Amino acid sequence: MPYHPIAPRFDLFQGCEIPGAGFGYVALQDIPKGTILLEDTPIFRLPEGITNEVVRNHLIRLPPTVQQQFMDLCIGYQYLNDGEYLGRFRANALPCGYDNVDGTGRKLAGLLLLAARFNHSCVPNVTFKWDSQAGVMRFCALSAISRAQELCIAYDVSSLLFTRDARRARLQGSSGFLCHCPACIIENRDSDDRRVALYKAIVQPPQRSPRETQIEFLSRRYAQICTALTLLRMEGLSHFRETLYFDGYKLCEEAGDRNNAMLWLAQASAAAATVGGPHNAEVTRRLQRANAELEAPNQRPQILRFPLP
Ligand SMILES: [Zn+2]
Repeated sequence: MPYHPIAPRFDLFQGCEIPGAGFGYVALQDIPKGTILLEDTPIFRLPEGITNEVVRNHLIRLPPTVQQQFMDLCIGYQYLNDGEYLGRFRANALPCGYDNVDGTGRKLAGLLLLAARFNHSCVPNVTFKWDSQAGVMRFCALSAISRAQELCIAYDVSSLLFTRDARRARLQGSSGFLCHCPACIIENRDSDDRRVALYKAIVQPPQRSPRETQIEFLSRRYAQICTALTLLRMEGLSHFRETLYFDGYKLCEEAGDRNNAMLWLAQASAAAATVGGPHNAEVTRRLQRANAELEAPNQRPQILRFPLP
């Protein structure tokens, strides 16, 4: 059965001029956390390394109104040399899965006409995730959003765990603007320290050292995960919680703590539902696998308990 994306929730938000930031989306009313705001289908998806001519050939097959909407999009100065079609595509496309369903092919970027209008923030309140089964990009409220607040996504989620200077340099290089979001507007060393600690906990989780016992290592990692969850809250970040809760689940499994493993996994599922929408195929598969493991008999003796913080 063909999938029909939900219509954009223009009862909840609208496009308008944002002072100093061009066009953007603003909440028309209070929006609860987890609300699906938009499911956008790309007008085309293309791999890296394409030419201006390839983008033009895809565009001219589309209706004139769609072509016009594409040409109305901004083209950052850093993409001017790419040509008017490729430049606009590179400036506005978002990662949209792979060119085969099992995720082993080439990475694709997709041009989403409505979503291209979201501005960026390093404290994003909207997230997006590609749903390969449905062929749509799903945008959800990451946190409760107040009326009149701007709806912002993170153009580059991985750079959210960088310091302010590193984030701004990355964004200036990739998107051609100097970020003036609430996290970047003033220098904040405490925030930088928190994001560096988060990077270590999430991107570079520690390995057990030869001098450490398993119990010492698991305890150290548990403390790091609990601290990281607090730091995410302090930074106003909702991304990465699924990863941390999932790591907590794996830790419990290693420690033979089945009861707490179930609680960590339930939190990972709840966080995943907020970030990707409840129907995201990849996340669902990963959580289903973990749930199946929990139904198998526990082979490990319980050596530690790791309650949720
Ligand atoms: Zn910023």
